[in-house]
Amino acid sequence: MIEHLLSPDSPFQRRFFFIARRFVAGELIGDAVEAVTRLNQSGITASLDFLGEDVTDRETATRTTETYLAMLDAIGSSGIRSNISVKLTAIGLLIGDDVALRNLERILERARANPDPFVRIDMEGSAVTQRTLEVFEHAFAEHENVGIVLQALLKRTPADVERAIGLRARVRLCKGAYKEPPSIALASMDDIRAQYLRLAEPLLTRGVYPGIATHDRRLIAGVKEIVRQHGIAHDRFEFQMLYGCFPELQRRIVADGYNIRVYVPFGTHWAGYFYRRVAERRENALFALSSIFSK
Ligand SMILES: Cc1cc2nc3c(=O)[nH]c(=O)nc-3n(C[C@H](O)[C@H](O)[C@H](O)COP(=O)(O)OP(=O)(O)OC[C@H]3O[C@@H](n4cnc5c(N)ncnc54)[C@H](O)[C@@H]3O)c2cc1C
Repeated sequence: MIEHLLSPDSPFQRRFFFIARRFVAGELIGDAVEAVTRLNQSGITASLDFLGEDVTDRETATRTTETYLAMLDAIGSSGIRSNISVKLTAIGLLIGDDVALRNLERILERARANPDPFVRIDMEGSAVTQRTLEVFEHAFAEHENVGIVLQALLKRTPADVERAIGLRARVRLCKGAYKEPPSIALASMDDIRAQYLRLAEPLLTRGVYPGIATHDRRLIAGVKEIVRQHGIAHDRFEFQMLYGCFPELQRRIVADGYNIRVYVPFGTHWAGYFYRRVAERRENALFALSSIFSK
């Protein structure tokens, strides 16, 4: 029943797409290109994400990979300033590591034709953390245009940060969007924030062009302070935020002279992404409710 309601073509999903619209650029590549064009005009670069995850059949994994190839062509031909982000479970990780790696390599090769050839592997829940990192390392051994995401809430992440720095791999640091058990994850927001800043410092001082992904004003202030103390040039890292989240804050980061990239998801499989946004912030949940009642 619930699977039926949440399938992208169900009347329920189509009817409620207007609520997700604030956080999702649209259903088609053209919608995403338009959204990125607007961001670029405000001095913001982008990373395009084709929504979808937890794919268990090869045909869907192949179709998703081919959509990514078409996205890369659209980025190249439109001239927008964007790279891409991809979830390994969308391109076959749950079928097999080899399936995800093969599909990822097709994407990495096509991306090399674009002015920004970089491909970010998003990090998903802890059930696939280790496998995601292993597929990443295999790909990185052959392709330098791939990077990873590490989540500050996981207890393993300090070791993963050091490993990524040793490899000279690009890291996006985020808090982590998936609910994880206390045996492997920090539970309190204060602890997660403290770990975030402890990890941001080595990434900023010894890492390669880290992505500082957060809307949290305290973390942004903390990162600016690290940058000031160490005299780090503003072009050595970028802030990253999500499409539709705190647009004024995004504009202020540009005005203050920092690089900022916005993660722009599009497609019909918006449910999982949208529910994570609503679950992590009361303001997002209130926005979703008010959209329903103001319709
Ligand atoms: C570009 C980008 C890429 C990402 N990629 C990934 C990924 O690959 N994998 C992954 O797991 N996650 C990813 N995330 C999501 C990330 O892990 C967090 O879940 C998400 O960003 C929310 O955390 P935050 O640091 O932005 O701040 P938040 O915790 O959302 O806080 C933002 C602001 O809102 C305030 N606030 C927080 N809670 C409340 C509340 N209840 N009421 C009122 N105010 C509140 C805070 O004080 C703060 O000022 C990504 C995030 C970004 C920005």
